[in-house]
Amino acid sequence: MSVPRQPDPILTVDVEEWFHVCGHPGYADVAAWSGMTSRVGPCVDMLLDLLDGSGSRATFFVLGWVARSHPGLVRRIADAGHEIGCHGDLHRRVFEMGLDEFREDVRRAKGVLEQQAGAPVTSFRAPEWSMRSASNPALAVLVEEGFRLDSSLVAAPPVGEISNPSRPALLQTSAGPILEVPTLSGSFFFRRAILGGGVCSRLSRFSRVEALMAREMRSGVAPVLYLHPWELDEKHPPMRLSVVGTLVHFAGRLRTRERLIELVARYRFVPISSATASVPAGGAAR
Ligand SMILES: [Zn+2]
Repeated sequence: MSVPRQPDPILTVDVEEWFHVCGHPGYADVAAWSGMTSRVGPCVDMLLDLLDGSGSRATFFVLGWVARSHPGLVRRIADAGHEIGCHGDLHRRVFEMGLDEFREDVRRAKGVLEQQAGAPVTSFRAPEWSMRSASNPALAVLVEEGFRLDSSLVAAPPVGEISNPSRPALLQTSAGPILEVPTLSGSFFFRRAILGGGVCSRLSRFSRVEALMAREMRSGVAPVLYLHPWELDEKHPPMRLSVVGTLVHFAGRLRTRERLIELVARYRFVPISSATASVPAGGAAR
């Protein structure tokens, strides 16, 4: 009897500037962004160099504002063989907008990304996992706007309800189905946390993250990892954040690059659109 091949892990990048921090009054003024030091271009280029020749391909969830401010960036990512997804337009959390505002935000971002990529953009990730719940009506808006995949839900309070799917699942919305592909999660100090990227992952032992990845792959599910370009930036400008905000943004940050180098040496990563194949039989829950 042939053993089914394990799925390849999925790599995703949320393409935003270092100052795209949700909920911080010092960085919320969109008009001020163009006066801040831009670092996204060189950081994305560093990532592309790192992935070049590795055989791995990733999905880059790009902010509409970044695409407009850096003409040519989306093209460089796509020309390197990677997939373009949408991270919203102005890095606003879903629950801070009405449904009409949310529709306007994603429509504007999708429009510029598709124009620059020259291909349909059908995958979405909300800033700061702000979809929060599998019953959020904003998921139906995504379907109506032409998205087929969402990667905004996590089953890790407080950023996502514990009842959210923790593996790929076909969600039914009032506008039709959407494939939810959550980021790798696991326990961190006895609580459920995102371990596919972010501060809890950076502060976890690398072997722990790899063990979680292996467990998922053995059960036929592609683990989803994520990172931000600013996590690799040795010239990251200083920030004025709270103690907790500083911890979340900076703690263990410079481990990201060395871990990524090890990961692409060990695994062949694939874009998130390949997750459609990884839904286990009968696993299309909720
Ligand atoms: Zn973001």
